[in-house]
Amino acid sequence: MHTSPQNATIIGAGLVGSLLGLYLAKKGNKVAIYERRPDMRKASIAAGRSINLALSDRGWRALEGIGIGEDIRKVAIPMYKRVMHDTKGNLTSQPYGKEGQAIYSVSRGGLNMALMDLAETNPDISLHFNQQVTNLDLKTNTLEFHNPETSQDTRLQSERIFGADGAFSAVRLALQKTERFQYSQSYLEYGYKELTIAPGENGTWQLEKNALHIWPRGQYMMIALPNLDGSFTCTLFFPYEGQHSFSALKTEADVMKFFQEVFPDAVPLMPTLLEDYFGNPTGTLVTVKCFPWSFEDKVLLIGDAAHAVVPFYGQGMNAGFEDCSVLNELMEAHENDWETIFKTFEKVRKPNADAIADLAVENFIEMRDKVADPRFLLQKKIEAK
Ligand code: FAD
Repeated sequence: MHTSPQNATIIGAGLVGSLLGLYLAKKGNKVAIYERRPDMRKASIAAGRSINLALSDRGWRALEGIGIGEDIRKVAIPMYKRVMHDTKGNLTSQPYGKEGQAIYSVSRGGLNMALMDLAETNPDISLHFNQQVTNLDLKTNTLEFHNPETSQDTRLQSERIFGADGAFSAVRLALQKTERFQYSQSYLEYGYKELTIAPGENGTWQLEKNALHIWPRGQYMMIALPNLDGSFTCTLFFPYEGQHSFSALKTEADVMKFFQEVFPDAVPLMPTLLEDYFGNPTGTLVTVKCFPWSFEDKVLLIGDAAHAVVPFYGQGMNAGFEDCSVLNELMEAHENDWETIFKTFEKVRKPNADAIADLAVENFIEMRDKVADPRFLLQKKIEAK
């Protein structure tokens, strides 16, 4: 068994890569994290869009494991229930759990930056920005990087590489070229668009603050999660094609007419609707499944790089954070026997990742359609008893 500190290279300083860095350093590894984008803490994103995520129990446990749970709780907003808005503006609600149980709205950027700050102050972790992996040679474990700012290309050999580079992972691409590697990606015929409900006077919330709001409309829906500044980040999940779709809404008048018809109570709260609709990109919704997640004792995929899911269970980041907790337990159990750690990790995590991937697709139908059905509400009440 090897017990000396090891060198680990993480690709991606997103939510999972940054958290993983902290866990690896805690176990005595020297960690270098390489991120394609510039440092988000220095870029002027403060004036940009505020995007939030639902953080739940699995995520909290992983944050508590590195002692950051309390700090994040101070900036997280509990959502105790979902509130449904019908086309007349009538509201119904369903609690998420028993008294006091909640999922939490947190800022994606805020959480990522908090994790990066913590990583940066750790003497065993170095962060490198503007470093995009363009190739990984598995024979020698050599990474090739391109710096989009300076156009410089560099190489790095590392004994252990963690691919935390998201749904379109460059590290995974190298594994895809190995024999019998299983891979599938499937897109929904829906995209998403982020919109904003403005804060009320003096930074108050114009909708109930401690809830996740849903406008279920059968084939599509809009949701809204609260932010600390009184605003809500809305996400419209909408088909690409068809009568009600992104392709059908071409002009400002089309968008206004449609929103006033189907989301009439939200429109007066969305003064930047047209600006947001035409200015923000339309995101795709993909499920990625693959296996194995590791290559010998040299490479491991983690987070979305191993298992990207559609967002309807709010569990993508939470599952990626739970990956870090599980890896930590395995590092404790198997010291630096990385082959055993990697093989056990993928064996334990794969069935969970597949389950949440399938549940997330199913939950889209529940959220956009069934939650608006009175029979469903009744059934939920009976289940809750
Ligand atoms: P990412 O967040 O994608 O981070 C990957 C990082 O790697 C990025 O910083 C990227 O720049 C970098 N990178 C990529 N390629 C390279 C390369 N070649 N070289 C170097 N760096 C690279 N999850 C929840 O738990 N709750 C939610 O409420 C929720 N809501 C969501 C809503 C939407 C609309 C979407 C799309 C997703 C949502 N998710 C949610 C899922 C969540 O966003 C992801 O699961 C999570 O971001 C995965 O983290 P990650 O670090 O694995 O990947």
